[in-house]
Amino acid sequence: MKKIGIIGTGYVGLVSGAGISDFGHKVICADIDKEKIKEIKKGNILIFEPGLKEIIDRNVKSQRLSFSSNIENTIKQSDILFIAVGTPESASGKADLTYVENAALKIAHNLNSYKIICTKSTVPVGTGKKIKEIINKNKPSAVLFDYVSNPEFLREGSAVKDFLWPDRVLIGCENNKTYESMLDVYRPLFRNKKPIIKTDIATAEMVKYASNAFLALKISYINEIANLSEALGCDIKKVADLMGQDGRISPKFLHPGPGYGGSCFPKDTKALSNLAKQENIPLETVNAAIKANIYQKKRMFSKLKALLKNRVKGKTIAILGLSFKPNTSDIRESSAIEIIKSILKEGGIVKAFDPISNNEMKLIFPDIKYFSDWEKTVDNADCMVIMTEWNEFRSLDLKELKNRLKKPIIFDTRNIFDQNKLLELGFSFDTVGRKKIINY
Ligand code: NAD
Repeated sequence: MKKIGIIGTGYVGLVSGAGISDFGHKVICADIDKEKIKEIKKGNILIFEPGLKEIIDRNVKSQRLSFSSNIENTIKQSDILFIAVGTPESASGKADLTYVENAALKIAHNLNSYKIICTKSTVPVGTGKKIKEIINKNKPSAVLFDYVSNPEFLREGSAVKDFLWPDRVLIGCENNKTYESMLDVYRPLFRNKKPIIKTDIATAEMVKYASNAFLALKISYINEIANLSEALGCDIKKVADLMGQDGRISPKFLHPGPGYGGSCFPKDTKALSNLAKQENIPLETVNAAIKANIYQKKRMFSKLKALLKNRVKGKTIAILGLSFKPNTSDIRESSAIEIIKSILKEGGIVKAFDPISNNEMKLIFPDIKYFSDWEKTVDNADCMVIMTEWNEFRSLDLKELKNRLKKPIIFDTRNIFDQNKLLELGFSFDTVGRKKIINY
């Protein structure tokens, strides 16, 4: 059993801490946000993630998992420290490393014995070297440490499953002893035959950015093909499905929609692009993905406006889904934000509902009306827009929807409804990459 300290108990820190304690280690999840730690200690984990509450409760009960806002003590009591603080986008588009550097400094000042210091945050190539320098400059000279880059690949919405059953775990480090210690942390995965791969530090850092940028690129690509399919009268659902049957392409991340969002793809693509600029290396594919995504988000409002025959002012629009994807409460960079902003700017009225993230969106739009079910949200609205493909929206009763709306008009940005059914019921509708029907 290892003693593990997690510095930063956000999305990644909380899931990682819970997962590592489930592997049998003793974990303290620490955060500078005292309120957050207070709430988590009370049992309010603040984020919605399937299975997370259960795994936390189980490990807290067995005293393997605890929470603290005392960063100094957490550092002193741990053998291995994971840095899992945020690396948001800075004004220039580069990754803002302030939180990571502060965490490194805090670790250095409290390094009371040999430890492994491991970065889980997504950081640009070269950050490991910088963190090592900060720690070396500020630690007591007699105390040694080893450094690891261990990027995290979990996806929000399936974070617990992804953490416990990853495709691979990367251990970017400089010697076998460190790798062996990290293998001990992830031992249960090793037994489950999940590959735990040793690389150098810079390679591990690059794999994370390269993977996120590739997925963002795939989404932007299918979005652009969807837009072209619309213009040429093809059905993107069939196009994407048949493309995905090619093993070299795979059906994953081939779902057109309102543009990617979330806390990772937007900032990581920009950080990688900035890194390339710094090195004077063209990275035109990634730049194109970023540009295409900005366009896609804006395009959603133009399509809505066209569906409403350019009359948005005074219209009541019901928005179903606010989180950037289903099964998460995270609304960071959600496409719903962009479309709501545009509707309000043009004098439209928004009624909104998300199964989980109404409260998060209230912080951005305190003045729009929020509802606790789809039925009340669509009542008497001029139009309904699907922004997030929550399962409960996939199965909503279209006849009832038609009766509740003032006018049967739908904008399905996630292509979740059967177009034939919509036609049969006399809806006017638009989608992303399929035929538009306006019959009112
Ligand atoms: P987050 O904003 O949810 O959490 C970061 C936490 O760190 C916050 O609670 C903050 O209070 C805390 N913090 C900041 N400075 C601190 C310090 N000095 N000491 C202790 N705590 C401190 O961020 P997140 O979504 O968990 O992301 C963390 C990192 O992991 C980022 O680099 C992100 O890119 C990466 N990542 C995120 C995901 C994801 O899906 N969210 C997936 C993989 C990787």
